Parts: sequence; C-alpha cells; structure tokens
Amino acid sequence: MNAEKLREVLEFYQDLGFTSLYRRTPDETPSVNEPSSETVPVHTEPALIELPGLAPADDSLQKIREDIGDCKRCRLHQGRHTIVFGTGNERARLVFVGEGPGADEDAQGIPFVGRAGQLLTQMIEGTAKREGIPLERKDVYICNVVKCRPPENRTPEPDEMEICGQFLFRQLSVIRPGAICALGATAARALLGRKEGVTRLRGNWYKWRDIPLMVTYHPSYLLRPYNQDAKREAWEDLKKVLHAVYD
Ligand code: URA
Repeated sequence: MNAEKLREVLEFYQDLGFTSLYRRTPDETPSVNEPSSETVPVHTEPALIELPGLAPADDSLQKIREDIGDCKRCRLHQGRHTIVFGTGNERARLVFVGEGPGADEDAQGIPFVGRAGQLLTQMIEGTAKREGIPLERKDVYICNVVKCRPPENRTPEPDEMEICGQFLFRQLSVIRPGAICALGATAARALLGRKEGVTRLRGNWYKWRDIPLMVTYHPSYLLRPYNQDAKREAWEDLKKVLHAVYD
C-alpha cells in the first residue's frame, strides 16, 4: 500500500471516529483441528477488499454497530428499512457469511430469516444432529457482506462491498471464530478476493487472515429444485466445517 492509499484509509477510519490504531500480530493459532490434508495453500492474490490490520484496540460488536450508525455511506441505504448487522453467539466458534439481506431480513433486521435462512437453519441444525454435534443456530454467528438490502436483491456492487466489508472484517476480527463458512460467490469474493465460481472454490479450505475458511453454496441457490448435486455437496462441506470446529 502506498502512502497516498494509507492516508485515505486512515482518514476513512478517522471519519468513523477512531483515534487509535491496533495491528493484530499473527500469533494465535486457530482453535480448530487444522484440516491439513485438505487445506489448499493460502493463496497470495490481493484481496478484493483491501483492509489494513486496523481496528480500535477495544473493538467490540457493539462498537462496530455504533460506528455503522444510521449509515449512508453507500447507495444501498436509500432502499433499506433496517440495517441487518448480524445475529447469534458473539463468542461463536463458527461464523456464516452471506451476501446481503433480502426482503424478510430487511423487514426484521435479522440475517437469514426468509426461505434461504430457514434452509440454512435446517442445514446447520440437521447436519449437526446427524453428526452427533450438539449445535443450534443460536450457537453460531451469522452475518452478511453488506448490511443493507440491495434493490431487487441484486448482487452488491464492488464499492458497496468495500465500504460495508470493512465492518464485516471488524466483526470477524472481534469474534475470531475457529472457522468461517462463506455462503456463495459474493462472500467468497469479499473474504478471499477470488472471482471464481462457488463450484470451483467449494469444499476446500482457504484462510481469511489466519482463520480457516470454507466456501459452499448459498442456500438460495440450493432452493432451486434442480440442484440436487449441489445440496449433497453443501451437506458434505458443512459436515467438514462442523467436524473441524467442534470435534
Ligand atoms: N441471503 C443472504 O445472503 N443473506 C441473508 O441474510 C438472507 C438471504
């Protein structure tokens, strides 16, 4: 990052009200069994959303929510009813990241409560139960790349992902889960900077910073009736994630 870019970033954080900087040292080892045989090498391409390791020293989910405020940083605020910040266990060992709120989420202010959300809940709780892992939806944390509903549920634009992604990154840094599950291509792109489709990325381990990350299909995709293979694959992906985190 050159000096000009760094100045822009620092000004951005200053606008958010930060007065001190904190750089995390890459010392902590993840609390999951490293899925070594399946781990793909950490890729070195630049992430789509470039965020320096900066966050207030005493960062918390509450502080992040306060910093978001009544956000008007991008055009998505124009059509939203509610900012959908995230839900679940603030000390979760597993975080699911989706794309952005839909109509139901926008109305209720909670991520993944519509049809796709119900499927996600079933997938988490059903897979955990079958695998003998005592886990409910409330035990994980669920959030999205963008916190406001894109019009007509369109894919978030890169600038929207960049602006809002900074809050997502802070959420993940505060929670520091043992693993992240990226639901769909938008989450994979925001967290890994990779543009390949989910079919290519899914089922393998990557890393967001030093946290193991699995990409799988977005539940909305799985709701389409002809995606039987994808459903089976998503189930396999989720099994891998649950065992890596909770065994
Ligand atoms: N799709 C998402 O990506 N996120 C939600 O919260 C709901 C649907």
